[in-house]
Amino acid sequence: MTITEIRGLLASKKASATEITRQYLDTAKRENDTLKAYITLAEECAVAAAAEVDAKIARGDDLPPLAGVPFALKDNISTAGLRTTCGSKMLENYVPFYNAFVWKTLKSQGAVMVGKGNMDEFAMGSTNETSYFGGARNPRDTSRVAGGSSGGVAAAVAGDLAVYGIGSDTGGSIRQPASFCGVVGLKPTYGAVSRRGLIAYASSLDQVGPIAQTVRDAATVFDAISARDERDMTSRGAPSVSDKLTGDVRGMRIGIAREFYENLPDDIASALDNAAKTLERNGATLIDVEFPRLGDALPTYYILACAEASSNLGRYDGIRYGYRAPEYTDLDDFIRRTRSEGFGAEVQRRILLGTYVLSAGYYDAFYNTAQLARRAITNDFSRLFDGVDCLLTPTAPVAALPFGAELTPVETYQTDICTVPVNIAGVPAVSVPVGVDSQNLPIGAQIIGAKFAEATILNAALALETALGGAR
Ligand code: GLN
Repeated sequence: MTITEIRGLLASKKASATEITRQYLDTAKRENDTLKAYITLAEECAVAAAAEVDAKIARGDDLPPLAGVPFALKDNISTAGLRTTCGSKMLENYVPFYNAFVWKTLKSQGAVMVGKGNMDEFAMGSTNETSYFGGARNPRDTSRVAGGSSGGVAAAVAGDLAVYGIGSDTGGSIRQPASFCGVVGLKPTYGAVSRRGLIAYASSLDQVGPIAQTVRDAATVFDAISARDERDMTSRGAPSVSDKLTGDVRGMRIGIAREFYENLPDDIASALDNAAKTLERNGATLIDVEFPRLGDALPTYYILACAEASSNLGRYDGIRYGYRAPEYTDLDDFIRRTRSEGFGAEVQRRILLGTYVLSAGYYDAFYNTAQLARRAITNDFSRLFDGVDCLLTPTAPVAALPFGAELTPVETYQTDICTVPVNIAGVPAVSVPVGVDSQNLPIGAQIIGAKFAEATILNAALALETALGGAR
């Protein structure tokens, strides 16, 4: 069910929040062995929250839009008293003592958290296979990955283990799993949602956002979580979008940048072509544009993300919190063993890469060059958005990969080609289902907009959802 449908049930008293919550908890318990959507279930917390909502209903109080609606929270978002693992052995037993801003905000609105969503370790990955707890599977085909890094949340939403979910997106981690699982994922403008309590991967790129079954649901969740947080100096909040959601694209100028369409598999190319024609039929104008720096986006992203990660992950030294090596000879040996034993291979690879590109002899060649490229890519987007309202691209050049495909790291990184430019520039983008491939696997279209143009991209997404059937 969608948020809208759950609200209908609660309003008409056809079901109580407790009954609805029990239903989702039961499904989660039954399906989680297969799907691995959740790392930790939050049964007690969910049941208590639902009871509070029922008490409110009994009193005749007004219900906030997400009250009593069960959802999945990615496991890199801090929950006081409930372990927050980040998909890592390093934080396997870490219990935060404060709530992330987003969770605190949702909780105060009566949201019901079913559990903590599975994810690639420290959000580093595109398939969920780097999760220390074993990767989430795709509910559309359980031999396939759910995508990454917010794959557990996307699997929970697509598999009816949650009505919606909250993920984080550093280079595609909301949009790509949404695309793989056939649901909607919104990466908001950098700064629209607070990052306080989100365990940092690459702070200048990280952004929290919704995964939902419909565009309207994604808008509802975005409105609930986008607010200025005094304790995250990069946060600004954002204008509301639900009240601007019409699905009307008449007169909208939609840019098609050829570079995003090179070497696409036929199925994905034709689904995107059909999406473009659909928008045109609804009154939008398609405009050919160029994005020549697309090829620079991947190396730029992986240099900056690894550099920031190497610094952010420096705090896991076994002394303050997290895993600590049981045996060691001296302090250096203790830290070395703690980090070698606590972090998985991909995280270690990125810390090494990041340390390398920041080291004295290579700083100019790599880190500085990447910063310059970031500026150039950001300017390219600004220029483009002078002439078009949004860009239509594939979300990923592949559909959900088979679990255990064992791509090389670089092959895996290459599947992020369409999503990373968006984070580099800090602009918003949404992935919406636009069809399936010959194996019945979902295909997502990505709509990218200018900063704080969430309403525009969601309207284009809604037009596609209405015409093409969306998640259902
Ligand atoms: N796949 C990308 C990476 O591994 C993006 C991950 C993310 O957005 N957190 O860095």
